[in-house]
Amino acid sequence: MMPPFCPLCRVPYQLSDFAYEDFTLVHFRPTQTYPDDWAGHPEHCEWFCPSHLPLTKGLTHLPAAEALAHIQANLRESTGRDT
Ligand SMILES: [Zn+2]
Repeated sequence: MMPPFCPLCRVPYQLSDFAYEDFTLVHFRPTQTYPDDWAGHPEHCEWFCPSHLPLTKGLTHLPAAEALAHIQANLRESTGRDT
């Protein structure tokens, strides 16, 4: 399992404002089936820091890549209103 890395903060957890155990592994819809002995990071799981975790609400039925696209679009919308 890879260490926590929030795809929205894009910094290693050591450099973030949060501790290792603050991160939550969110399970999205699997898009591929791996063998039972798959030891790596499941591609449909993503770590989220406490500040971005609420943004995954209601999106976990989507594949991870799709859910992330939604979240990033929402973030752009809420931060880029002044242009
Ligand atoms: Zn984050």
